[in-house]
Amino acid sequence: MTSMPESEAGYCGKVEFLYEAEGEERQKILKMLEVAGKMVSDYFGSKCKYDVLVCDGGWCMELQVISRERGNSKKYRLRSPDYMAITDYNLSEIIIRKDVAKFAQYLHEMIHCVIPKSYPHQLREGLAWFFTLEIIRPYPYLRPSYPMWIADIYIRPVRSLVETFGLDFIKNFATGNAEIEESAVPEDAKDLFLPEAVFFRKKKSV
Ligand SMILES: [Zn+2]
Repeated sequence: MTSMPESEAGYCGKVEFLYEAEGEERQKILKMLEVAGKMVSDYFGSKCKYDVLVCDGGWCMELQVISRERGNSKKYRLRSPDYMAITDYNLSEIIIRKDVAKFAQYLHEMIHCVIPKSYPHQLREGLAWFFTLEIIRPYPYLRPSYPMWIADIYIRPVRSLVETFGLDFIKNFATGNAEIEESAVPEDAKDLFLPEAVFFRKKKSV
């Protein structure tokens, strides 16, 4: 196990490799974290301060997920497909599975860490997805593929918020610097603001 005191440019917290990372690969991962972190910091004006743990494969990721799920079973029910990467808001950590995660996942998780913890899970997920796509729009080759349900329950409702309130406002809202009056939320985005438990129950029954 090797760890670094600080990512080189300080765009996230500590970076820890949970396996023996070779020099070149290690540099590549640190570079992706640095670039993604800089994109987040340039776009939102706030830095990702979470620590990053890097896993080498499915087994390592599975262990991380299981240990975090204990007593916390609802949190990851609608997590990223195949656990490419997750953000643990309780421990302020990002866990990345380096063998499957692409640049967009690094970016996505680092966006998560500038979104307030107090927002319901589905709202954080929606904002993180929407802004992942927004930030990488100039770089179509970085665009991630995602399942339909992600578009349905996360991305489309946030797009509706942006149409109603404007991009700049939602960008401020995403970092906790603007508030949304609940009565002004468009009908198709209301689910984003439901308490998590109600949201999950509703989505499960559809
Ligand atoms: Zn996410």
